[in-house]
Amino acid sequence: MKVMFLALNARYYHSNLALRYLRQYLKNSNADVVLEELTISTPLREIVKCIYDHSPDALFISVYIWNSSVIKMLLREVESLMKCRIYLGGPEVSFNAEEWICNFPQITVIAHAGEESVRKIIELKCKNEEKIISEPNPPFDEIPFPYTEEELSSAENKILYYESSRGCAFSCSYCLSSSYSCKIDIRNIERVKDELSILSKSGCAVVKFVDRTFNYDNKRAIEIIRHISNLKTDTVFHLELHPEFVSDEFIEVLKDVPSGRLRFEIGFQSANAETLRAVNRYQNPENSAASIRRIADLKKFHVHADLIAGLPHEDYKSFRKTFNLLASAGPDNIQLGFLKILPGTKIESQKNIFGIKHFCSPPYEVIETNDISFAELSKLHEIDSILDSVYNSSNFRETIQYLSSKETLFDLLESLLSYAAESGFDIKTKNWKDVSSFLLKYWRYKLSDIQILSDYLCYDFVTSKMSGAYPAFLFPEYESFKNKCLGILKLNSDSRSCLKGITPKEYSKFLFFSPRSMHFPENLCRQNEIIALYKDRLFNIV
Ligand code: SF4
Repeated sequence: MKVMFLALNARYYHSNLALRYLRQYLKNSNADVVLEELTISTPLREIVKCIYDHSPDALFISVYIWNSSVIKMLLREVESLMKCRIYLGGPEVSFNAEEWICNFPQITVIAHAGEESVRKIIELKCKNEEKIISEPNPPFDEIPFPYTEEELSSAENKILYYESSRGCAFSCSYCLSSSYSCKIDIRNIERVKDELSILSKSGCAVVKFVDRTFNYDNKRAIEIIRHISNLKTDTVFHLELHPEFVSDEFIEVLKDVPSGRLRFEIGFQSANAETLRAVNRYQNPENSAASIRRIADLKKFHVHADLIAGLPHEDYKSFRKTFNLLASAGPDNIQLGFLKILPGTKIESQKNIFGIKHFCSPPYEVIETNDISFAELSKLHEIDSILDSVYNSSNFRETIQYLSSKETLFDLLESLLSYAAESGFDIKTKNWKDVSSFLLKYWRYKLSDIQILSDYLCYDFVTSKMSGAYPAFLFPEYESFKNKCLGILKLNSDSRSCLKGITPKEYSKFLFFSPRSMHFPENLCRQNEIIALYKDRLFNIV
């Protein structure tokens, strides 16, 4: 019997963990199993051809918010062409199976965790009569390691997903993880350590934990982090934290972890107490912001923090407060997300209470609520675009720090947005030269000190290790400054150990920075100090 697992990933560099578990779970069955991964951008014809070429007896597809529209189109085509049995699983079908079956009578839905359901289907040679199958799984610890040796041997520089626990102990009403079962099912910790060692030896770039709340159990989280810290590897480990459960001991352990070994995604979501109560999220906003700040202050790990706009009781003014409290914690990246009303979540059943209107098709994003209008949410989308260009890109770190020291980050973004509308600037642009020119014009329009802003932008250009020369408008007198720096270098280069291995001929390729404004902060670069950038290396010349 030929079984095909088909993943339609959002991007070519993503991979599907759930189908890998299913494939390994069927390892000892008689089924001839194949797993194919394409993306939602693959032309429909090619997806159909891929299925046709394998001609499976049973086709299993996992359905998510990002691929359900493509899968609906695919099902219409496959139905007329193929005679195989079709099984859909995944969060997008698990909670509204009847609706899917009504629209596509040829399918069977596997609701919730799928390993044991798939095994049963294969055992029955696909002669199951039920249209919805939901067999209880064995404990997660008995589910095999999802990766094959072949996959690991070609994993260099890739992202590998990993799960050390399933389920979530919390019940945020907008989240699917709270809809099914609150029971956490964990893998034995020694097994987790062994599996992480195997993954790190593969040379993959990132191991991304998909555990809903990695630190729900502080002791266990610390033990896993200590193990990760001791690995001899360049692999980065991505962990999702609940900020409320970051303990003093957790922070102490992080201090000993090599820089860059971990990166964190932290759900902050809202600072409005009434909102948090309404969505059943257990969190003290001030404590959570303090936890994020403590991790960010270590300056060792990338910190990405999430917010949700459009939650009950969160109006525009209250969202501004939420945003600014999070921004004050200094995460590297702020993800301004929008509430999605996912089928099967508790908030879906409460949407009329909160006046929530949302799009009917994925990703089911909120359109308006009793507390926030469509126009205000649209404005937040625009603020999100500016946020991405000037803050999340990390290319203007010190410049934005300086600009937002005069007002809050939210107010600065609002102000940039209205200046962009006035000046015709495209808020979606990510080009460094265009964004820096826009920031400079904005500052001039505010009748503020242009020289210091040029300095900040040049400093960010050098320290973000941009290639090429400064845009001419930032440092018009750069050529004469460069000649001065080269003269200084020639006089002293013999005594500089940091320049060993670089020939004097290469000095002309250096990019130099020194502040021109008397007000540039000394902790970044003192007056007369010169910073030079050459091939991703930064030197202090004077
Ligand atoms: S949002 Fe996070 S903490 Fe809340 S239920 Fe979902 S996974 Fe759990």
